[in-house]
Amino acid sequence: MSARVTVVEGDITAQEVDAVVNAANRAMRGGGGVDGAIHRAGGPEVLEDCRRRFPHGLATGDAGWTTAGRMPARWIIHVVGPNYRAGETDRALLVSCYARALAVADELGASTVAFPLVSAGIYGWPRGDAIDAAVSTLGSTPTSVEEARLVAYGRAAYDEIVTALSR
Ligand code: ADP
Repeated sequence: MSARVTVVEGDITAQEVDAVVNAANRAMRGGGGVDGAIHRAGGPEVLEDCRRRFPHGLATGDAGWTTAGRMPARWIIHVVGPNYRAGETDRALLVSCYARALAVADELGASTVAFPLVSAGIYGWPRGDAIDAAVSTLGSTPTSVEEARLVAYGRAAYDEIVTALSR
């Protein structure tokens, strides 16, 4: 089975789900955008767990988990999206982020998972294609996750995801 893909507009840190996905970077020590928001909402425990579990960081396209600290979710699944702006334009790396995140969710037994649009912010992946990669990978990858919730940050992204889901 594959997950039911849904969309909401809002802040991923407030989602009442089993796991939230973070668009992290290879160093896994926090950063800007959604990464910064997740570390602020989760509190210092998240960074401590990142240091403990990922002493050497994480590779582009890979995923791993930590505690979610003070967020309503139980886990954070960190993925490292490709940095389009820096020339990492191989779409397979972006697809891998979603597929690996679902595999980690399966290991954890998470049934509801919230995703941001990985690489579509600071890393500069063209939004339409980032949405297409998210919707097609989440909708076709075999998993025990029941709901894969795309969290759109802003109305424009929300509308584009709704359109992609209806195709
Ligand atoms: P990347 O470096 O992978 O591009 P960003 O955090 O810059 O990561 O952006 C990824 C996506 O997350 C963008 O679509 C951005 O608008 C969105 N985003 C930023 N903050 C939040 C948040 N608090 N909740 C949900 N999405 C967010």
